[in-house]
Amino acid sequence: MSFDAARLATPALRALRAYDPGHDLPQLRQRFGDAIAELGSNENPLGPSPLALEAMHGSLASAWRYPDPRGAALKAALADSLGVEAACIVLGNGSHELLMLLAQAFADPSHSVVYSQYGFAVFPIATAAAGAQAIQVPALPRDDPQAPLGHDLDAIADAVRADTRLVYLANPNNPTGTWFGDDALERLLARTRDDVIVVVDEAYHEYVDRDDPGTALRFARRHPNLVVTRTFSKAHALAGLRVGCLVAHASVAAVLERLRESFNVNVVALAAAEAALRDRAHLERVRDFNTAEREWLRAGLERNGCAALPSQTNILLVDPGRDANTLERRLFERGVIVRPMTGYGLGHLLRISVGRRDENQRLLDALA
Ligand SMILES: *Cc1c(COP(=O)(O)O)cnc(C)c1O
Repeated sequence: MSFDAARLATPALRALRAYDPGHDLPQLRQRFGDAIAELGSNENPLGPSPLALEAMHGSLASAWRYPDPRGAALKAALADSLGVEAACIVLGNGSHELLMLLAQAFADPSHSVVYSQYGFAVFPIATAAAGAQAIQVPALPRDDPQAPLGHDLDAIADAVRADTRLVYLANPNNPTGTWFGDDALERLLARTRDDVIVVVDEAYHEYVDRDDPGTALRFARRHPNLVVTRTFSKAHALAGLRVGCLVAHASVAAVLERLRESFNVNVVALAAAEAALRDRAHLERVRDFNTAEREWLRAGLERNGCAALPSQTNILLVDPGRDANTLERRLFERGVIVRPMTGYGLGHLLRISVGRRDENQRLLDALA
């Protein structure tokens, strides 16, 4: 008999698969060089603030030491920027780590976890890794005027059972790009028991371009069971450094502090994130560029027979009006990388990140 450790893995783990990046990107960069349009991973094509780059360089000389295990300087900067106490903040190696820790800390196989169909892919993974039972709530219909394929918050509140310990929401959500307002969240929170941790993943918060972008943080004082996650990977353009944070009741933060790895955020990431927070002007340029460029790209896609759903993010979920997988492969042969959403059960749709103008133009040229 050959040795196979899969037999020894926990039942929860047997249900999981390793992350599929879609393509071998390092190899593709070699093959296409500058003639590649990487529109598959929701990255910010403007890159980080120059202040963050400077801080990264400055931190390298001390990177031989362990980082500050408390991340005190970054927590203080976040507390100031978000208007919360530092004791309510937990830092993570990306917000992905924090989403996983929440399930590990609060859910076990006797519990259920509620999230939306087409909700962010990490929600089912975190649930499965904890061995908890998943309750997936049907998304809003495709023809919903506000949030096609988005979260149905009333149905999510209805789905909470006596054994539910966690609810995961993403606002805005990836891959749908949909957004819900504070009033809908307030209704859900009012109806949800305080032994259910309600997580609102605000990874794309900085991209929301409404007069009142809203944030779940407004409800933190009234609802101690509310947890809000943010990341430096998206609008702050520090995806490669892996740093995110969450804001929660101090007792929730204290539970997670017991579980997280002692040095989970590295020296370079701590320095860069703190500097990025100081550069409000850069963040504004990023949001303005994205809002305008997304609509330019949407119009171009529509001229080429691809209808894009409404979006409050830097991604467009697109119905190409033809076989999405064939189209993805043909774009790929021209150095244009987009992602089919097969893993979400949306194999007929493509997710396209808003790139630089030259990348978006290359996509439109390839489509034409
Ligand atoms: C990209 C993304 C994240 C951020 O992940 P990091 O681990 O912080 O890079 C979180 N939630 C959603 C919905 C995302 O799309």
